[in-house]
Amino acid sequence: MSAQRRVEIAGAGFAGLTAACALAQRGWQVRVHERAERLRTTGAGIYVYENGLRVLEAVGAYAAAVEGAPIAHTREVRDHHDRIISVHRWQGSRVFSIVRQRIINSLGEVARRAGVEIIFNSEVIGADPSGELLLSGGQRLKADLVIGADGTNSRVRDALRLIAKRKRLVDGATRLLIDKTPDERAATEHGATTVEYWSGSRRVLYTPCSENDIYIALTMLNSDAAATAVPIDKALWKRSFPHIEPLIDRIGTEGRYDPFELIKLRRWSAGKVAVIGDAAHALPPNIGQGGGCAMMNALALAVHLDQHKAVEDALAAWEAAERPLTDHTQRVSVLLGLPTTWPPTLRTLAFKLSARSKWLLHQRTRIVYHHPTGT
Ligand SMILES: Cc1cc2nc3c(=O)[nH]c(=O)nc-3n(C[C@H](O)[C@H](O)[C@H](O)COP(=O)(O)OP(=O)(O)OC[C@H]3O[C@@H](n4cnc5c(N)ncnc54)[C@H](O)[C@@H]3O)c2cc1C
Repeated sequence: MSAQRRVEIAGAGFAGLTAACALAQRGWQVRVHERAERLRTTGAGIYVYENGLRVLEAVGAYAAAVEGAPIAHTREVRDHHDRIISVHRWQGSRVFSIVRQRIINSLGEVARRAGVEIIFNSEVIGADPSGELLLSGGQRLKADLVIGADGTNSRVRDALRLIAKRKRLVDGATRLLIDKTPDERAATEHGATTVEYWSGSRRVLYTPCSENDIYIALTMLNSDAAATAVPIDKALWKRSFPHIEPLIDRIGTEGRYDPFELIKLRRWSAGKVAVIGDAAHALPPNIGQGGGCAMMNALALAVHLDQHKAVEDALAAWEAAERPLTDHTQRVSVLLGLPTTWPPTLRTLAFKLSARSKWLLHQRTRIVYHHPTGT
């Protein structure tokens, strides 16, 4: 019998935990290093589409991840007069809006059940292509495979000098959760309508995402310093969105602002080190697929490793098979973000036209209808 293969993973986010589950389920000995003191995630809520849901099913985290989350069946875009500009109804595929921590907890639970060791307060500072993970305490951990799933500021990726392009986009978002009112609790029994309100270059995204929570994302240009402030300046947001004053009044002092980024690598691996998730291919959230790509590529990595004896061969085959769809998704997401800086009249026209464009719909849903490797 061959010896059990060992993997050291940096980061216990969507990518790292999915890879941990999928590899442990395929017989690997898995250790995850998370710099935080517990499993935690930033960003409040998240949309997970059919492709990501299939991955959650494949690793066994689906039921717990979607429990209590509404099906986000309808998305409305409204202008500064609260007039509807476009409506999209998801038909023929699933999409849930979910509290992020619920997904992370579900993946963490599956990982533990599969025998994964998760080490908290363990900060990774780099990696070596020979298959070594470097920790801040000075330890060098040798393994058959090392995975950098340590997010946009990945130390693993940077140690390997893999970046081809890293671009900070013009916009960013502050995300938070607020409690549902009794009326909102009753209203989402049969799923949820997401509303994106626009005013100038600012927007408010309203998303029911559990029995008790509404996910709010306030998006703005990064140069709009007053709008990026946390706690949010309610008077400022109410001036931009007088028609949703009561909603803005419900926002507390919490929230986290993040600028959007686009990251592309020369290669997704170097030697025995693979880079996955935002560390490899961060994309702006306009298409809601960063987490979906992270989970898909993490599962696919485990599948490819099963099919090749040499880790390096598996990593090359994995990137060749999976990267084209991720590249496409990044391109579409950047395209969808272009109207942010356009004058409101032009933007409204673009939204109306794009809502009718079969070509654009096909481009943005290609990943949704894709059957991920391993599902
Ligand atoms: C505003 C906004 C909205 C979004 N909406 C959606 C959406 O609706 N749907 C969707 O699919 N995606 C969405 N995304 C994208 C999604 O959040 C990311 O793609 C996803 O979180 C990437 O997962 P990850 O595991 O690669 O990275 P992360 O979630 O960043 O996880 C990285 C983990 O590594 C840990 N870590 C970092 N550095 C170290 C270190 N040195 N040592 C040890 N541990 C470390 C971190 O603590 C963290 O736990 C959105 C993004 C933004 C900004």
